[in-house]
Amino acid sequence: MGSKNLKAIAVRGQQDLPVYDLPHLLAEADKAYKYMKEHKFFKLWQQQGLMNDIEYANTIGIMPAYNFKDSVFAKYDQINGTTMLNHYKIGDSACFLCPMCCGNICLVRHGKYAGTIVEGPEYESCAMLGPNLGIDNFAAILSVIHLCDEFGIDTISAGNIIGAVIEGYEKGILSLSDLDGREINWGEVDAIQELLKRIAHREGIGDILADGSRRIIETWPEMDKIILQVKGLEQSAYDSRAGISMALAYATSDVGAHHTRAWTIAKEMEEGQNWTDDERVDTVIYHQKLRPLFDMLGVCRLPWIELGLNEQHYEKFYEFVTGKEMPLERLLALSNDIYDLTRLINTHLGIRRKDDSLPYKVWSNPPLTGPNAGKVIDREHFQKLLSLYYQKRGWDKNGIPPAALEANFND
Ligand code: SF4
Repeated sequence: MGSKNLKAIAVRGQQDLPVYDLPHLLAEADKAYKYMKEHKFFKLWQQQGLMNDIEYANTIGIMPAYNFKDSVFAKYDQINGTTMLNHYKIGDSACFLCPMCCGNICLVRHGKYAGTIVEGPEYESCAMLGPNLGIDNFAAILSVIHLCDEFGIDTISAGNIIGAVIEGYEKGILSLSDLDGREINWGEVDAIQELLKRIAHREGIGDILADGSRRIIETWPEMDKIILQVKGLEQSAYDSRAGISMALAYATSDVGAHHTRAWTIAKEMEEGQNWTDDERVDTVIYHQKLRPLFDMLGVCRLPWIELGLNEQHYEKFYEFVTGKEMPLERLLALSNDIYDLTRLINTHLGIRRKDDSLPYKVWSNPPLTGPNAGKVIDREHFQKLLSLYYQKRGWDKNGIPPAALEANFND
């Protein structure tokens, strides 16, 4: 959107949305709400939202720290959900009528960043612009997030790119002159803010960084070993070296290294240490079917992924809103069609097996400390999983869907 000079699209309707069977819809919603309200983590979600993941990610060793050099952050308790709650949170925000109410509103009251107000943060922004840049001051993290919000810059990409610049400079891949003569090191908030401004205004090195990881690698090929990206999209804030199913999810995501299509890391860490390869691939494919379904329906996936709300509710919601019976299996099949369609579009644009790959660090540089210290993804094992994934999806060895599938979308 940035290249089109577009910051947002607002759509406003003026007519009612008719509901086919309101009494049954409300009864089904009541059942779902009752389940959620009794869940042991419901209150925590209302209080901290996604910020409770800071503690979780650090405990299980999947936190991005220092451009993913590490997967734990020693001072995580200075920037976690409890710190936010005790010192910064001034209000909640929520999507319309949602009882889970996961949004935070934070204010910095004292010190250098006093007066900063942020809607958020949530886990990704805090992790990528905090630990991933070596910042252990929550108020400073809020100020960097605030800048990203003001400029309309994605916080995950910003955290990856600035982290890669700091490490690139540390390793001598980027010179001081590449950085326009301005040093930048871990945790230097002023320098980080200043670099963000240069990215937003396309000044100096900011003109290259604003185009993202592909342009950075084109300009400095050695940065390929430093920056974490798949298909040109910078990686989300979950370290996949701890779990090969998450690595497969990033590699096969149509949009690149994003957790939006399949976030399997928690399930794998909690239940999947002895999974077979079939179970790993099936988990990724199931997530890739289910999560786009939430997007199709225009509903939030957090009650399902975080509180385990049963998927069957959604077929009922659909039925009572539209008056059409639609079993979950049928909804999942439609969602899967979307995955096939986006794959067809991607393969038409030249995407192949070589693109369903992982960042260099995931194969080669293990996290230094924490529960996953020393772990990397084994290339051979990954290729075996990828072949199995293509086979289960019905795509060929190069990841190309069959011509017959394409015909399904022609009418
Ligand atoms: S709908 Fe989802 S994102 Fe919105 S407040 Fe509820 S849980 Fe949070």
